[in-house]
Amino acid sequence: MELALIFILSVIIAFALATGSFLNVIIYRVPRKESIVWPGSHCPKCGEGLSWYDNIPLLSWFWLRGRCRHCGRPISWQYPLVELTTALLLVAAFFKFGVDLKFIFAALMLLVLLTVAVVDAQRQIIPNRIILPSLVVVPILAVAAGLAGRQAMPIVGSVGYLEMAIGFVLGGGLLLIIAMVRPGGMGGGDIKLAAFMGIFLGRYVLIALFIGFLLGSLAGIISMAFFHKSRKDLLPFGPYLSLGAMLTLFFGYELFQWYIGFIL
Ligand SMILES: [Zn+2]
Repeated sequence: MELALIFILSVIIAFALATGSFLNVIIYRVPRKESIVWPGSHCPKCGEGLSWYDNIPLLSWFWLRGRCRHCGRPISWQYPLVELTTALLLVAAFFKFGVDLKFIFAALMLLVLLTVAVVDAQRQIIPNRIILPSLVVVPILAVAAGLAGRQAMPIVGSVGYLEMAIGFVLGGGLLLIIAMVRPGGMGGGDIKLAAFMGIFLGRYVLIALFIGFLLGSLAGIISMAFFHKSRKDLLPFGPYLSLGAMLTLFFGYELFQWYIGFIL
C-alpha cells in the first residue's frame, strides 16, 4: 500500500475511534437528559471516574476484559462495538468517496444514523436533541459548501439544492402519510429521520425506505415466529431505516441499476 494511503487511513481510524467513543457518551446520556460534557467519563455502575488509560477507545475494554477497574462490574460490549462500527463505516465511506467533500458529508450522515439506530434499539425513541440539530446543521453546511463553490449534496444521485429538497419531502412526507393512515406504527422521530435521510440521498431515499421496510418486516416476522413477541410489541423502526440509508449510501446507485435491469 502507498504510504500516503496508510497515513490517511490511520488518521481516519484514530478519528473514528475517538468519535465512536463520543457517540457512546451521546447514546448513554442524551436519552437520560444528562450533559454530554460534564462530568467526565465514569463507570455508569459505581460512578468512579475513568483515568485516560482506561478510556482508550476499543483497547481499554479488551485490556480491562470488559470490567470496571474499580467495582469489577461488567462494562457493556456495546461500547467497543459502537467504536469499531464507527471506524468500519468511516473507512468504507473513504473507499467509496475518497478525498472529497462527499466523504465529510457521508461521515456526518453515518455518525447520526449509527447514534439514532442504537438509541432507538435500546429505548424505542429517536431524541429530538439528536435529530433536530442534525436537520438544521446539515442544510446550513450544504449551503455553505455551495457558496464556496463546492456543492456536494446529496451524496447519492445528482447534486443540487432541489434534489436535497425532493429527498426531504419524499422521505418525511411518505412516512408522515403512513403515520396518518396507520396511527401507532410510525413515530414522529421516524418521520424526522426519513427527512434527514432524504437530504443526503435525494430521491434515492425511496430505496432506503424500501430496504428499511423490508428489513423491519422481516425482523417483525422473525421476532413473532421465534421469540413469541406479539404484533403489539413495539418494534423500533429507526435501526432498520438507518440500515436502509447506510446500504443506499454505499450501493444505492447499483441497486437502482440492478432493479431497472430486472423489470425492463
Ligand atoms: Zn465501576
